[in-house]
Amino acid sequence: MPGACAKPAEIAASLYVADGYRAWLAQSAVAKAARLARAAAPLETGGMLLGQVVDGEAHVFAVTGPGRKVRLARYTFESDRARDNRLVHRVWPRLRYLGDWHTHPGGRPVLSAMDLASIRETLTPDRPELLELLLAGPPGMESFEVALFTMVRGEDAPRRMTGGGE
Ligand SMILES: [Zn+2]
Repeated sequence: MPGACAKPAEIAASLYVADGYRAWLAQSAVAKAARLARAAAPLETGGMLLGQVVDGEAHVFAVTGPGRKVRLARYTFESDRARDNRLVHRVWPRLRYLGDWHTHPGGRPVLSAMDLASIRETLTPDRPELLELLLAGPPGMESFEVALFTMVRGEDAPRRMTGGGE
């Protein structure tokens, strides 16, 4: 059909699952996060996960980089959320915020206490579930492990999602 929009299934993506939660990570989004990770290494960096929810499954199509006023430090990372929100609506009007991503250069693929506190702060009644994508690797981030978590409002701990297959 001429002019038909690309369906999520036509985008190369990997499926991650935790209990009843399903999320797809577009390979292009992970590749962009990896480029940003290497460029910032050995400092942490990160940004937002943008996509759509289709039939209850999250589809991450794009990632944003750090905001202009972002503060980069070895062990702390904080995005400029006001700028982020303006950017989403201007550049990706059809995508919504699904969560965040960040890196652990020279660190492990587990969420720190600060990470958890920051995710909990972002959960609201309107936004009761969020994804957190973590790329962990050596200080230069030449290679990395992908860890995807889903955090549900009111729950104590995030769920690490398993998968990564086609
Ligand atoms: Zn972290």
